[in-house]
Amino acid sequence: MNQLIAPCGMNCALCQAYQGKGLACRGCGLGGERKACQNCSIRKCHKKEDFCFECPDYPCKRLKALDKRYRTKYQMSMLENLEFIRAKGLDAFVIEQENRYRCSRCGKLRTVHQEYCLYCARMDKEAGKK
Ligand SMILES: [Zn+2]
Repeated sequence: MNQLIAPCGMNCALCQAYQGKGLACRGCGLGGERKACQNCSIRKCHKKEDFCFECPDYPCKRLKALDKRYRTKYQMSMLENLEFIRAKGLDAFVIEQENRYRCSRCGKLRTVHQEYCLYCARMDKEAGKK
């Protein structure tokens, strides 16, 4: 079980707060989240389900709003992620993510929040078109 996938479908491994130096977030639900995530209504709502798609209200307004924001700003879709996990499982999702977001220069995972690799600063368009 990969613990870096949040209930909403966000892959915390791709978050700049997880990757970034000084921010030191360990991932959703693992403690020490930064403010924006502490206040996340989806995180607060989430109780015993592993993922939002297990909730009777899925997809709720909050999730749709988050999905829209991420699709617009970061070319990433929570709903697409969740549907992938539901259809193919978490392990397949993690592998797909690693292939999709791997930096072509240093091989580390790129963040969805920036257009450059946080580790080697390579500008790379393949992880998200501009
Ligand atoms: Zn890199």
